[in-house]
Amino acid sequence: MGILDKLFGGDEGPSAAQYSHVKIHPQVDNGITPARPGFAGGTLKCKCATNPVVVKIGAQTAHNHVCGCTKCWKPDGAVFSQIAVVARDQVQVTENADKLEVVDASAAIQRHACKGCGVHMYGRIENTGHPFHGLDFVHTELSSETGWSPAEFAAFVSSIIESGVDPSRMEGIRGRLRELGLEPYDCLSPPLMDAIATHVAKQKGVLK
Ligand SMILES: [Zn+2]
Ligand SMILES: [Zn+2]
Repeated sequence: MGILDKLFGGDEGPSAAQYSHVKIHPQVDNGITPARPGFAGGTLKCKCATNPVVVKIGAQTAHNHVCGCTKCWKPDGAVFSQIAVVARDQVQVTENADKLEVVDASAAIQRHACKGCGVHMYGRIENTGHPFHGLDFVHTELSSETGWSPAEFAAFVSSIIESGVDPSRMEGIRGRLRELGLEPYDCLSPPLMDAIATHVAKQKGVLK
């Protein structure tokens, strides 16, 4: 259901799905599975057939979303990635840590990828002054458990053009995102943008 339906009580629902042929990401294309109450984490595995990297997540994730930026890892053929955050002390590499390498050491988010299959296992912010320091970014689709927090919005939607998506496809892509209830933003969602601005304002001293 789109935000307008929520505001105005429209109940046309999925029958109004006009863009269901538009693919976003395998985790949302067939509808979005709600979080399981009490779900408290699981195990992420990379795609290597032998000696996969295993990462244990000790808590439910938050702020899960699909992301159109050019840096997040995407499964083959997907236009968007799907990515969530979790406290960094809840992220632990338990097997084959030696296969991980940082994709781009100059990026704010250090994405630790498997050298074998290329999957990003977690992204970490080492700059203690960064608004999201303390949170790691993870792809819960790498887990066989169900119950993770579902995608809630779409971030950096316009950026998919930088990956080669023709601009003429954007109307259909934004239409599909709204049908799925994933409000499309060309940056992050308002609560996350507000959190960043609040952090900056506190650093400057204009907010207490
Ligand atoms: Zn791998
Ligand atoms: Zn991204």
